[in-house]
Amino acid sequence: MTRVVVVGHGMAGARFVQELRARDLSRRFEVTVLGAEQEAAYNRVLLSSVLAGSLTPAEIETVPSAWYAAEDVELRTGVEVAAIDRRHRRVLTTAGEHVPYDHLVLATGSRPWVPPIDGLVGDDGELDRDVVVFRTLGDCRTMLSRLDRVRYAVVLGGGLLGLEAARGLAGRGVDVEVVHPADRLMERQLDLDAGRVLARTLRELGVRVRLNAQAVRFTDGWGGGGRGLRLDDGTRLPADLVVVACGVRPNTGLAAAARLEVGRAIVVDDTMTSVTDPAIHAIGECAQYDGQVYGLVAPAWEQAAVLADALTGGSARYGGSAVVTRLKAADVDLAAMGETDVDEFADDLEVLRFADPARGTYQKVVIRDDRVTGAIMLGGPETVGTVTQLFDRAAPVPADRRALIFPGVVDAGAALDPADVPDDHTVCRCNGVTAGRIRAACEAGADTVTDVAATTRATTGCGGCRSDVAALLASRSTVEVPA
Ligand SMILES: Cc1cc2nc3c(=O)[nH]c(=O)nc-3n(C[C@H](O)[C@H](O)[C@H](O)COP(=O)(O)OP(=O)(O)OC[C@H]3O[C@@H](n4cnc5c(N)ncnc54)[C@H](O)[C@@H]3O)c2cc1C
Repeated sequence: MTRVVVVGHGMAGARFVQELRARDLSRRFEVTVLGAEQEAAYNRVLLSSVLAGSLTPAEIETVPSAWYAAEDVELRTGVEVAAIDRRHRRVLTTAGEHVPYDHLVLATGSRPWVPPIDGLVGDDGELDRDVVVFRTLGDCRTMLSRLDRVRYAVVLGGGLLGLEAARGLAGRGVDVEVVHPADRLMERQLDLDAGRVLARTLRELGVRVRLNAQAVRFTDGWGGGGRGLRLDDGTRLPADLVVVACGVRPNTGLAAAARLEVGRAIVVDDTMTSVTDPAIHAIGECAQYDGQVYGLVAPAWEQAAVLADALTGGSARYGGSAVVTRLKAADVDLAAMGETDVDEFADDLEVLRFADPARGTYQKVVIRDDRVTGAIMLGGPETVGTVTQLFDRAAPVPADRRALIFPGVVDAGAALDPADVPDDHTVCRCNGVTAGRIRAACEAGADTVTDVAATTRATTGCGGCRSDVAALLASRSTVEVPA
């Protein structure tokens, strides 16, 4: 028996054990998972839906506890690993127990970064009682438990997470303001104009946005005894709750202390194996491959599958991931991919743009050598599926570029018709499910989105592909399939 110990029972760790068992039919591996969180495996990506009230914690559970028993995987939740003893090939838990391994898989993810702002953290090193981060179901429960006492909330950080938290709180009737140090929201994904349109859309949904602003202190004694935040320009904002969404840092402490090579995260090769120790592997947000550290679930799941394949003697190799970022906030539809903040007049680029700020629409498609190399699709334009497909497949764009922005004006050709989507097109990016696999599932009897999810896992990541899966299903039947 080969002993595999997985540290971290998050999105990457939980997926890895499923991928391993699916390939380990003769049960050559004895598998133990040690996870610091108490929860059953859950879909972290959907926490914003729990915060917004559209899903319950039970609805985001991904792997039922019964699966572990049936598959003979030892799952130990609420167990934190404190150290790796590479010489004896064992890990030490904070409770003082040693767990031996032949292969150690680090899937420890990231932790929120809390900026050094006065008052956020107490003398004991713990967050103030009215300050929360947004990473775990526990954080989500903390926020929800405070809601009846929260009239004003300030969200620090206008990235994906901060905006999802802000929209979720506003939807529950809280007065929310986002404080963001950059000149636009989601500056890593958006250009200035898209940031402006997004801010306008959010304002209309009850989320105020303050750009180029830094918080400097969280204090008591605010009008009427409340609490509030002081900003660097002297502005004072009332805040019964401060949500810190200022970015994350990979959890690399265990690896660094064990003298594995660590850059921004644990450095791995194309089998997700540490470049320092062939018995240790890293996947998900704690892994760095080819200089890249990914903060999205699709790469984490791809890496989990590659490692499971490599450990079971397969030939899969990881070659990096092309990522599409989707904002999942009620009434805000945004997808961003590739290069977006470019010099629009550069000779080697074509940039198509259409903005209708009053309707919350902004579309930008960057084309290089007849291929889509970047796009911002805000406001749910009809062409988002087509543009994402072209980006994914690096397929040539239609001769009449207007088809990428205005679907009704000219025919984009086959790309727009779900029936003509090629089999190798990836429909569910989180799970890497192609149109061909969905069609095969239909052939095998799946006729609802739920059936397709059960057989292929499509739609079970961020859920952004539900309408595409429904369109594919509808294109194969005479019955309309609800998204
Ligand atoms: C609110 C929210 C919304 C998101 N939305 C999206 C989205 O729309 N699309 C997208 O692609 N991604 C999204 N993400 C990011 C996505 O959730 C992460 O990329 C993904 O969870 C990474 O998986 P991971 O396993 O590497 O880390 P995690 O899922 O964080 O799992 C790491 C686990 O390791 C455990 N751990 C850490 N150290 C130890 C230790 N020493 N001992 C034992 N256990 C340990 C942690 O407790 C945790 O359970 C979102 C994240 C959040 C928080």
